[in-house]
Amino acid sequence: MDCSLYIHFPFCVRKCLYCDFNSLAGSTIMPEEYVMALVREMELRAATLAAPVTAPTLYIGGGTPSLMAPELVKRVIDGARRWYGLLPVAEVTLEANPGTVDLKKLAGYRAAGVNRLSMGVQSLDDAMLARLGRVHSARQAMEAVAAARGAGFANLGIDLIHGLPGQTTAMWRDDLMRAIDFAPEHISAYGLSVEEGTPFHELARAGQLDLPDEEIGLEMLEMTPEVLGQAGYDHYEISNFARSGFRSRHNQVYWRRGSYLGFGAAAHSFLREEGWGRRWHNPDRPAAYMPSLADGLPPEEEQLVLDRRDAMAESMFLGLRLLEGVELSRFREEFGVTVDATYGAEVASLKVSGLLELAGDRLRLTRTGLCLANQVFQAFI
Ligand code: SF4
Repeated sequence: MDCSLYIHFPFCVRKCLYCDFNSLAGSTIMPEEYVMALVREMELRAATLAAPVTAPTLYIGGGTPSLMAPELVKRVIDGARRWYGLLPVAEVTLEANPGTVDLKKLAGYRAAGVNRLSMGVQSLDDAMLARLGRVHSARQAMEAVAAARGAGFANLGIDLIHGLPGQTTAMWRDDLMRAIDFAPEHISAYGLSVEEGTPFHELARAGQLDLPDEEIGLEMLEMTPEVLGQAGYDHYEISNFARSGFRSRHNQVYWRRGSYLGFGAAAHSFLREEGWGRRWHNPDRPAAYMPSLADGLPPEEEQLVLDRRDAMAESMFLGLRLLEGVELSRFREEFGVTVDATYGAEVASLKVSGLLELAGDRLRLTRTGLCLANQVFQAFI
């Protein structure tokens, strides 16, 4: 069975003001100690699998995994090879933050087996980066990209965020154009989401976060595929754009409901092997995640065994994230029933609203639907 792998490294230099990811700043846990736990979890989990697996992708995310020394990254990759059949042609991605990498470290990652970098640039405007609480400047982002190329990375992704406080459409266009100048193979462009528990949420409640209004937000969403399309990037998922042959193989596993195993604090897993599949996740905090491993048990916080209805809903709201949409004949083959018979009323209403459209054997989001995707997904949950 093909099974992708995800590794979560939850530590950061400091917490960005908008961040609600599972990440910690100022932890006293040493990276070596955490990686020891990770490798132990990989070994223990492999022993619980019904049959050996083959890993076509490995993604090391965070947090800030580029705080890890290359030797630690190598230990993780070696574990993936040893226990999960990580293929020699596998896509091996590491998330890196400018300000935490240099040429030597990046060359070390390359030598360890990383062949794709996802660079958390977020903005190329220094004032905005300071406002977000990022640890790096635009210049450091530029230097990190140059160093990545120098270290031999031929598959480089850049993450950007739009809808930032005080951001105008002209500023967002400028960020996009400057990112295009770096000539990355992949660009992710996410809209800022202000989440409870973050300093940005407090500022918003106090009326001190001047977010772009809805109209400007929509203009940014519409402008993004236009600008990136003109530069040769193919829009293949709501927030993701790639040059030909450089779509994220790992993330497509999530959207296509492929199997993956997650290791580390807060990591999520999904295996399709039993019935309609099983999802679980590890404890959120490293301090809760690490002790059970010392006792020789793979940690597991919560488990959800999917029924047919859950699996059908997932196929819709995950599949619709991809611009190509949901393949209707495949849905019928997998579930023995048509999309029409299952979601006829929802689909009809979303078509009338101009959010979904039929293209041959596929149901997909329209241009308007792409901007209001969460509203569409709600219909299937
Ligand atoms: S670097 Fe990423 S994970 Fe860490 S605090 Fe900032 S946004 Fe969150």
